[in-house]
Amino acid sequence: MEGFSEEQTLSLVAQIQDWQHVRSQTESSVFSYPVGVSCFPTALPRAKFQQALEIQEIYNRLYCSVAEDEQWIHDAIRDIISVEPLAAALWSIYEAAKETGHIQKISVGIFRSDYMLHLNEGAEPQSPNAVFETSLKQVEMNTFSCSGGSHANKVGDMHRYLARTGIYNVNDASLDIASLPVNKNIESLASCLALAHTTYGGPRSQEARQTAVLMIVQPNNFNTADERPIEYALWNREDPVPTYRLEFGPDILEHTWLTENRELLFQPPWLASKTPVEISVVYLRAGYEAEEYNHVGWEARLQLENSVAIKCPSLLAHITTFKKVQQALAAPGALEKFLSGSDAAKIRETFVPVYPLDESEQGLFARKLACDPEKSLNYILKPSLEGGGHNVYGTEIPDYLASIPQERWYSYILMERIQPPIQTNILMGPAALDSGQTVSELGILGCCLWQSQSDQTSEHRCKMLHNSVGGWTFKTKFAEVDEMSVVKGYGHFDTPRLMDP
Ligand code: ADP
Ligand code: MG
Repeated sequence: MEGFSEEQTLSLVAQIQDWQHVRSQTESSVFSYPVGVSCFPTALPRAKFQQALEIQEIYNRLYCSVAEDEQWIHDAIRDIISVEPLAAALWSIYEAAKETGHIQKISVGIFRSDYMLHLNEGAEPQSPNAVFETSLKQVEMNTFSCSGGSHANKVGDMHRYLARTGIYNVNDASLDIASLPVNKNIESLASCLALAHTTYGGPRSQEARQTAVLMIVQPNNFNTADERPIEYALWNREDPVPTYRLEFGPDILEHTWLTENRELLFQPPWLASKTPVEISVVYLRAGYEAEEYNHVGWEARLQLENSVAIKCPSLLAHITTFKKVQQALAAPGALEKFLSGSDAAKIRETFVPVYPLDESEQGLFARKLACDPEKSLNYILKPSLEGGGHNVYGTEIPDYLASIPQERWYSYILMERIQPPIQTNILMGPAALDSGQTVSELGILGCCLWQSQSDQTSEHRCKMLHNSVGGWTFKTKFAEVDEMSVVKGYGHFDTPRLMDP
């Protein structure tokens, strides 16, 4: 980096290594490897950061309202239910649970809205002022199993610590610690779950003496180090909230059961006490991939859904994470169904064009763009799948579409490519330390609690009980890389350095 001596860089790298061991993999018990981080905080206009924080409350309300509109969601995803196994599984579990009757009206949402800066027309991507010649554009909204909160919290602490030590100072210029925002994701996510836990109240079943949060996790998962801090924070509260982990699938059916009144009881198999705990909140950090919904996975999710525990999130809120929902909300007039005109305008400002790939007028227009070897360059093709790594970028789109049956085209959306400003950084992945041109992505975490009022007209069906910003994630990757997954080694956790023009 400019003005940085070799000695300074070596010391910086050594110090970062001491912070980096934040991700572990449980497959072989204690194997752990470092999470990718940026060596330097990356410039982000303060005004854009503020804008993203301010509109999160509207995004939260929007998605909670959508989650209470079964008909609207069904219309939005109708075409993919028959072709996407995950959509089919979730919708069928929703219908089965509806048959039994939803007895918990309250839901929790831990959402994350992701953005990139998009260069104004004519702006030079690599100019030093490029970050200020931009607007804030949404990449996607995540409403299920949002990860990265704990890592971002820790990496924010790391960059603030490093800034304090003076290691970022070049000549007499110091990096102002106040330009690195404090991140309290862990505390706010724990507080949100604790609020839901308190809202549930004490045990209702005679069999249980205590209530607890149940975090559902993937077996052998690499998100442990991102999940655990939230659990620890819940246990460590002044008024501790007991929190247990349980793997998605057979363990749910083996160790939890429903009482006659559909309280969800859990017997932690590793505890000597044979008094079950009653689950107040089910926090799902698993169940986002189609493969998880075999017969057992399907039954397990249904059991959780049928219970009176508060779900984070509800099944319909889970479905709102599909890209088809993002595309349906981008249709003219769609936002106004859920928001006031002025709020809808603030949200729409963050949209780039997103099209269906069906046989509607818009869909046929998008098919032409997608199949054109030149025009497709400016687009990204996205299926309604979670977990990342399924998008098709730019010039690969025409051949990809030609390789799959046309019936499957319905499950995709076509999104215009955001053109971010280019910066430089040194990125430290698990295996390599490289410097180069980079682009960044800001995620804002939203925390909410809402109540379903199914007897009301559609505008009033969602009553917000809590709505706040949890914090942020900030990820940086090399400019030529398409994906942002940190797990796969593309993205690196970073901290925004807030700047004014
Ligand atoms: P998922 O996380 O479900 O795989 P995303 O929509 O977040 O899907 O896309 C993955 C990554 O691809 C993003 O993190 C971003 O880096 C890049 N990306 C997605 N959409 C766009 C877009 N419209 N413009 C530029 N980059 C994008
Ligand atoms: Mg994403």
